[in-house]
Amino acid sequence: MRLSQYFLPTLREDPAEAEVISHKLMLRAGLIRKVASGIYTYLPLGLRALRKVENIVREEMDRIGAQEVLLPLVQPAELWQETGRWEKYGKELLRFKDRKEHDFCLGPTHEEVITDLVRGEVRSYRDLPLILYQIAPKFRDEIRPRFGVMRAREFIMKDAYSFDADEAGLFQTYQRVYEAYERIFSRCGLKFKAVLADTGAIGGSESHEFMVLAETGEDRLAICSACGYAANVELAEVKAVYSYPEETERPLEKVSTPGVRSVEEVSSFLGVSPSRLVKTLLYLADGEPVAVLVRGDYELNEIKLAKVLGAQGLKMADAETVKRLTGAPVGFAGPVGLSVKRILADFSVRGLKNFVTGANQADVHYINVNYGRDFPEPGFYDLRTAEEGDPCPRCGRPLSLTRGIEVGHVFKLGTQYSATMGATFSDREGKERPFVMGCYGIGISRTVAAAIEQNHDSAGIIFPEEIAPFKALLLTLGKEPALMEASEKIYQTLTQAGVETLWDDRDERPGVKFKDADLIGLPYQLIVGKKFLETGQVEVKRRASGERQVLAPSEVVSYLGGKGP
Ligand code: ATP
Ligand code: MG
Repeated sequence: MRLSQYFLPTLREDPAEAEVISHKLMLRAGLIRKVASGIYTYLPLGLRALRKVENIVREEMDRIGAQEVLLPLVQPAELWQETGRWEKYGKELLRFKDRKEHDFCLGPTHEEVITDLVRGEVRSYRDLPLILYQIAPKFRDEIRPRFGVMRAREFIMKDAYSFDADEAGLFQTYQRVYEAYERIFSRCGLKFKAVLADTGAIGGSESHEFMVLAETGEDRLAICSACGYAANVELAEVKAVYSYPEETERPLEKVSTPGVRSVEEVSSFLGVSPSRLVKTLLYLADGEPVAVLVRGDYELNEIKLAKVLGAQGLKMADAETVKRLTGAPVGFAGPVGLSVKRILADFSVRGLKNFVTGANQADVHYINVNYGRDFPEPGFYDLRTAEEGDPCPRCGRPLSLTRGIEVGHVFKLGTQYSATMGATFSDREGKERPFVMGCYGIGISRTVAAAIEQNHDSAGIIFPEEIAPFKALLLTLGKEPALMEASEKIYQTLTQAGVETLWDDRDERPGVKFKDADLIGLPYQLIVGKKFLETGQVEVKRRASGERQVLAPSEVVSYLGGKGP
C-alpha cells in the first residue's frame, strides 16, 4: 500500500479527550475516530490490526474444533424473557421497539440466542461436545464509556459457547478453551495473567479472566508469588486475622464534628487513626435497606456484599434515602439507634472496641462505640476488598496487588441457561438432559487497545509483530528518480513475497516521515535515502529495539521472512 494514497490521517498533538495512552495513540496514529460516546469508526490501519487479532482468535478457536457462526445483533425480547434477563439485566441492555411495537434489544452477549439455536437442532449426546463461536459487534450501553475502544458501547467481541453432555465434559472443554486463550494472548504479544473471577451478570459456577497487565487497567488483581494464586480483587477472599488489644469499654459519647464527613476528615479532626473508625454504608438490596459496617481504613467490596445478601440488585442508598433512614445528611450514619433491620459487618470490625461512628445526626459523631452494648452485635462476614499484604487465601503469604485490563473471560455456566430454556438432548440411555454449557468471550477491539497500552514509547506505538497492521514501512527519503525506482522495486518484491508493506512514497520531509513511522509503530522501518544512493544498501530499523542493520535490497525479503520466488 502506498501511503500517498492511503487513508491515514495522523495527528501531531494529543487529543484532549483521551486519558490513557492507547486511546491517544489510536487517535493520533489514525486507527480510529469517534462517532459518538463509546462508538467508533475503524480506519484502514486500525481495521487491519483488528483483523490480525480476529485471525489469531479464529485460528486458535478452529484448532480446538470450535465452529464459527454469525448471530444477529438485534435480538427479540421473548428470548430474554425466557431466562428472566429482560428484567434483570441493567441499563446496559439497550431495549427498543420495532415499527410493529415488538420489543427487541441490541445483544450485549448471546447466551439466549445460541441456546435457542441449539435446543432446536441438537438432539443427541452423539453430537456433543459442540463449541460455536462468532466474531461480531456487541452493544452495551455502558454508564461510563471511556478510554476509547477499551470501554466502548459498541465493540467487537469473540464469543463462544460450549455444549457438553455432563460436567466432566464441560471441564475438558473449559480447559481446551483456556489453553486456546493462552495461545491467543501470547501470539498477540501480550504480558497477561489468568485470574479467578466473579461471574457477574452472565452467571455460572467458575470463571477466569485473562488480564493484560497494565498500570491503567480498570481491574485490580491479587497475586501470590509464593503459590501462584491469582484473583480479581472483586473475588479475592480476605483471610486476615485481626488482633486487637484488650480494652475496657469506655462510656459512649457524642462529639460535635461540624461539616466533617469522610474517614480522612473525621480521623484528622478527632486525631484518631482511620482504623479506629467504622464506616456505616447504606445500601438498597433488591429495594430493602441494609447497613454495612467496615473499618475506616478498608474498602467495602460490593460484589462480596451482594453475594452474602443473595441480592440481584444492589444499590448504594442515595442522599434522600440516607436522610430518610438515618435522619441525617450523608456522612453521619452510624449503627447506634439506626432503624435499619439488617446490619452486617466486615470481619475487621469483630473485636474492635471504643470505635468512632456517625451519630445519625448532622455534624455529630459518636466515640467509644461498642457493639453488643450500644447496638446489637451484627453478623460478621468477609466484605472488604483485599489489599496489598493481606494473607493469600491459599498459602497465607502476603498478596501483592497489581492492575490489569480484562481482555478475555471464560465461564462454566452449567445448566442454568439450558434448564430454564428447555434445551435438552437425549443421553446414552435415551433420557432427556439439559446441555452443560460454558461461555467464553474475548474483547477483540479491547485487545488491540490493550496491546498498545503495553507496547509503546514516547514516540508512538510499538506493534507486536503478529498484530501489526503491516510488517514493514518502507521510507523513501528524497525525490531522486533512482531512489523512487529502487523503492518501487523493493516494495514490489516484498509485496510479492507476502511481506505486508506500507510504502511512504509521500513528498514529505524526512523528519515528518520518521515521526509518522514511529507513531504508527510498524515492526520494521526500511530506509531508502542518501545512504542508499552512496552504498546501494537499505537501512533496516526495528521499531521495538531501535536496532539498525544495513542490508542489500536482495537480502531484505529473506530478513523479513518473505516467501522465496
Ligand atoms: P468489564 O468487567 O470490563 O465490563 P465484562 O466482564 O462485563 O467486562 P464480559 O461479559 O466478560 O465483560 O465480556 C467478554 C469480554 O468482552 C471482556 O473480557 C472484554 O474483553 C470485552 N468487553 C466487555 N465490555 C466491553 C466494553 N464495554 N468495551 C470493549 N470491550 C468490552
Ligand atoms: Mg468479564
